[in-house]
Amino acid sequence: MKVKTPVYKNDHITSKVVDLTYQGNGVIKVEHYPIFVPNTLPGEEVEIVVTKVTRNFAWGKMVKLISKSPDRVEMKDQRYLQTGIAPLGNLKYPAQLKFKRHQIQELLEKAHLDDIQVAPTMGMEHPYEYRNKAQVPVKLIKGQLQTGFYKRGSHDLVPIENFLIQDPVIDQTIKIVRDQLRQYHIQPYDEQTGRGCIRTVMVRRGYYSHEVMVVLISNTKKIPHVEEITKEISAKVPGIKSIVQNINSKRTNKLLGDVNHTLWGQDTINDQLLGINFTISPLSFYQVNPQQTERLYETAIQNAGLDGTQTVIDAYCGIGTISLAVAKHAKKVYGVEIVPAAIEDAKMNAKNNGIANAEFVVGKAEEQMAKWQEEGLKPDVLIVDPPRKGLGEELIEATGKMKPEKVIYVSCNPATLVRDIQRFMDQGYHVTKPIQPVDQFPQTTHVESVTVLERA
Ligand code: SAH
Repeated sequence: MKVKTPVYKNDHITSKVVDLTYQGNGVIKVEHYPIFVPNTLPGEEVEIVVTKVTRNFAWGKMVKLISKSPDRVEMKDQRYLQTGIAPLGNLKYPAQLKFKRHQIQELLEKAHLDDIQVAPTMGMEHPYEYRNKAQVPVKLIKGQLQTGFYKRGSHDLVPIENFLIQDPVIDQTIKIVRDQLRQYHIQPYDEQTGRGCIRTVMVRRGYYSHEVMVVLISNTKKIPHVEEITKEISAKVPGIKSIVQNINSKRTNKLLGDVNHTLWGQDTINDQLLGINFTISPLSFYQVNPQQTERLYETAIQNAGLDGTQTVIDAYCGIGTISLAVAKHAKKVYGVEIVPAAIEDAKMNAKNNGIANAEFVVGKAEEQMAKWQEEGLKPDVLIVDPPRKGLGEELIEATGKMKPEKVIYVSCNPATLVRDIQRFMDQGYHVTKPIQPVDQFPQTTHVESVTVLERA
């Protein structure tokens, strides 16, 4: 059956943009039927052509910008919008911060929780060049090895030298590596045939330490001319401390393989967060915006109201960044995390920093919480920092039984945050402060926030 839609492919429509989706696309409406149009902003009058029609919505492409939003940033280089680098790059930064706050407000409203306040988003003074890590694909384009970024939703590489939101030394390092790979005629990996050598270049740089690590992710065990290449990289990259080969021979989208092999220098680099030293290995998870991570954690720690007498659980603790920052202000901290290597890092980081009141276990947070509860552990504060899918229901139920006075919820997904707030309310908890969004990823659509829940 053919469904009747209010618009057809190739229709030209002139209309006002009424909304911005959480992915950063403008929305125009024809009889309540939404058409998503990239690079258009609320309030703008635009002429568009319909490019794709489905039962419930359509996609369009702007052909003419009739009236411009005062929040628009003129981007000469459209590649930043087209790739995943800066999907909000066309929006002035104060408007980006409002957009992020508004997203949480809207979800609360939909859940009939509009009495919960949301504070203005904490932004960055310089919302560019903040990332301390880059992972760039390497591909052969028209016979030349290129590094860059994939177009949104595709595997088409767009060659880029200035990545806009990365530490400029990282951009510089990628260029140096690319030029060496070109000079020695290294074959980029080809997804179609499964042949070729280098798949991805990863670069990390410590924000405080300025130490640089280069990881060459290869399909093959051997990289031709590897000695010459490493020698050149080690001579040219400022602050280089470590060059590692990571072997990933699998035909998958997964970036990193399991085998690391240090080609030059150290196996790891160091950096600090809130004065605590962290050792970072090629596979470690480490927050990518160190300046804002400090503000996020400071907000979480301040809200926990610690005075050195409390017992704290840090669920989803990763390499223990929050746990170790909290340890100074608490009697005892327990961390739980599902990835064994991250817990090894957490234990090592505790030891290296002389922190003796933090204990780490490998496990699923929801199961471990239930276990701790059965064992009679009585935390005063629970801190959670879950992945996008939010908290397991068992964890919230176990919390209801353990009855910590406070729950500090660090969230990277407002939708699951709002769902979980409702579940905590069923357990007798209430949001007692305005939710604090902290912008961890300027120019992108990611929304991070800190919520304080207390027992009624
Ligand atoms: N708080 C840490 C990590 C946050 S990211 C930091 O700021 O660095 C979320 C973490 O949750 C990841 O390390 C992920 O491996 C872990 N994780 C995912 N599902 C989990 C589960 N069910 N139980 C415990 N940890 C989990």
